Amino acid sequence: MKYADIIIDISHERLDKTFEYIVPDQLEGQVAEGVQVVIPFGQGNRAITGYVVGLHDKPEFDVTKLKPIARVVKDSIAIESQLISLAAFIKRNYGSTMNQALKTVIPIKKREKDKFKKEISLNVSVDQARIELTELLTKKNHAVGKERLLKELLEIDVLDWELATKKLNVPSTNIRDLEKRGIIKIEEVRTFRNPHINKNVTPKHIILNEEQESAAEKIKADIDTGRKKTYLIHGVTGSGKTEVYMDVMEHVISMGQQVIVLIPEIALTYQTVMRFYTRFGDKVSILNSRMSPGERFDQFERAKSGDVSIMVGPRSALFTPFTNLGLIIIDEEHEPSYKSEVVPRYHARETAVFRAHLAGASVILGSATPSLEAYSRAMAGKYDLITLNRRAKGQDMASVEVVDLREELKSGNRSMLSRRLLELMADRLNKKQQIMLFLNRRGLMGFVSCRACGHVLKCPHCDVALHLHKDGTMKCHYCGFTSMATKTCPSCGSKYIGSFKAGTQRLEEMVKQAFPQARVLRMDADTTKGKDGHEEILSTFAAHEADVLIGTQMIVKGHDFANVTLVGIVAADISLNESDYHSGERTFQLLTQAVGRAGRGSEPGIAVIQTYQPDNYAVVTSASQDYVSFYEQEIAYRRLLSYPPCSHILGIQVSSANQKDAINQADILADLIKRTDNEINILGPEDAYIGKLKDVYRRVIYLRDTDYRRLVYIKDVIDRFLLEQKQYRNTMTWFDFDPINTL
Ligand code: ADP
Ligand code: ZN
Ligand code: ZN
Repeated sequence: MKYADIIIDISHERLDKTFEYIVPDQLEGQVAEGVQVVIPFGQGNRAITGYVVGLHDKPEFDVTKLKPIARVVKDSIAIESQLISLAAFIKRNYGSTMNQALKTVIPIKKREKDKFKKEISLNVSVDQARIELTELLTKKNHAVGKERLLKELLEIDVLDWELATKKLNVPSTNIRDLEKRGIIKIEEVRTFRNPHINKNVTPKHIILNEEQESAAEKIKADIDTGRKKTYLIHGVTGSGKTEVYMDVMEHVISMGQQVIVLIPEIALTYQTVMRFYTRFGDKVSILNSRMSPGERFDQFERAKSGDVSIMVGPRSALFTPFTNLGLIIIDEEHEPSYKSEVVPRYHARETAVFRAHLAGASVILGSATPSLEAYSRAMAGKYDLITLNRRAKGQDMASVEVVDLREELKSGNRSMLSRRLLELMADRLNKKQQIMLFLNRRGLMGFVSCRACGHVLKCPHCDVALHLHKDGTMKCHYCGFTSMATKTCPSCGSKYIGSFKAGTQRLEEMVKQAFPQARVLRMDADTTKGKDGHEEILSTFAAHEADVLIGTQMIVKGHDFANVTLVGIVAADISLNESDYHSGERTFQLLTQAVGRAGRGSEPGIAVIQTYQPDNYAVVTSASQDYVSFYEQEIAYRRLLSYPPCSHILGIQVSSANQKDAINQADILADLIKRTDNEINILGPEDAYIGKLKDVYRRVIYLRDTDYRRLVYIKDVIDRFLLEQKQYRNTMTWFDFDPINTL
């Protein structure tokens, strides 16, 4: 006999409110997670419908009081069924409770009082606005915020206040000033409206080039003949992948179906958002991670009711409750942010493929540097590979020069900038062209250490180094612990204690020293603290209000600056030296994306890669812009060492505020694993990468196998054990399949 947990109202604030029913023998084959059923409910045995969210062999309640399910609702295509099946898929494959999985998939309804949104529009004629703009431009040091706003309002009828202030970075004082002078007006409206594109402006019409055309045609032909597939578009940077997506989207929408577009949060800039608005107008809705649960819920309601048919957003947009979903697009498919960092740690790529399978939809993955996972699947014929080899507007790819920093050192140059890079920078500054200098963030932060004995000052609550701040305090970036900077080393008493400046900061100083006249912008964790700090820096750079942009990986993400003709990768090695097996892949991606920033306009571009390891395959292949060659070497390495995608890893983390308990519990689980499967490849238990965080001790166990199901089986055994275990209730255990970061 089987027993089912049934949920009656999934818009309920408490998704964990389930009722237990008996599954009658004759229904056993038909009842599964997500299936809609009719049950007798309450005193009068009213027949109501509900959804099955769990199945088990042992009843949780007194069997004599349980009622049987009356019947299964046949051919139920309710979107709720689909989402619950999706939650079950996530729970099974990534590890979590059903409740956690449901909460991931279905947003909780929270009543909020109606919020009013402010909208900006012109209060004068278009001609008058043009005159105003011209006058503004003739003024020296005019407010660029006003310029941006006026330019935008000449193209768009109505602009959302949030878009203007946050994405377009117009200071609110600029807006108020224009309002006071009667040039614009601000209105409060209850619901969100998309920007209205001015009818007087014909949107830039793009005709797909041959490669784009044949890519789009192939996918559309498959859709027309009912073939649902997953495509991987491998297109060089600037090859016009987005135009291909939009062409296929239009086709799918004309068939009355809906589309989900996933874009990494950091690439969801004003330009990207506007590209979709300009093309699809009111059919588009945008999701972002800053929205409140209520706002998210509202967006999802609009999708469900058919108000919109395109949802653009980060990972969580995947769960948009479209009832007739035809297409899911995942742009920059290789981005690590597509994997959730909280339980359930699902990957959007695999989950999207499963959702598409449930909904009968197609999937398009796109990247200039596909993940090893996606490309190996394409090689195995599971995905259809489509290649775009040329840049959309026919520009050449940047030429790449590799500078050997060992030679540079030998010749006495100890600066972060090689002679060749300095020479090219001088040339570009002369020609009034722009430069991007790129430095990887990791390993170069300003932590405090002793130069005499090497002692690193650590947070007393976390197993991480403290960072020195401008105000003379030392801070822990994980828990916020703050103390005054010490004058002497607590370990050896030496007074040679200090911090190494973050690499970007040092680089900025060097550039200013070498080129005092250059206008330099720096973009890193420090300068982007504000909500939309990075948008502000990017739009300043885009408006050519600076000559050099220095930054971490944030600056390489898909930005289109036409005037950048030189990209310098100041230290290509930092990401190579990480212990993580992804380091080769990350380095290749970073270098390729960085090189791809150069020469996107009419002038050809040069990229300079500075490295201590010019012979490393990730450096060599990114310099020659040869993805396939990189892939072949990287996959051989993964195969040799049994790393994903050639094998699978299950990371298990056990944590507790009590160090002994964490150690004991991890040992108990390791024993259980060995008893369950004595041939499984097991590593640990050992301390996690950060062994202590916020006073919580963390131990990890890693399992490895080519068969994903074998790992899922062990996860299930552990889950059942934990449910019944009476000891060590103060420990927490969670799972991470094919982890992206070292646990
Ligand atoms: P990707 O996403 O592959 O990096 P985008 O789709 O962002 O490339 O396109 C890069 C630039 O080229 C954009 O400014 C886009 O408007 C332009 N573009 C794309 N396709 C064409 C085309 N067929 N003709 C002219 N311009 C194009
Ligand atoms: Zn010391
Ligand atoms: Zn701390």
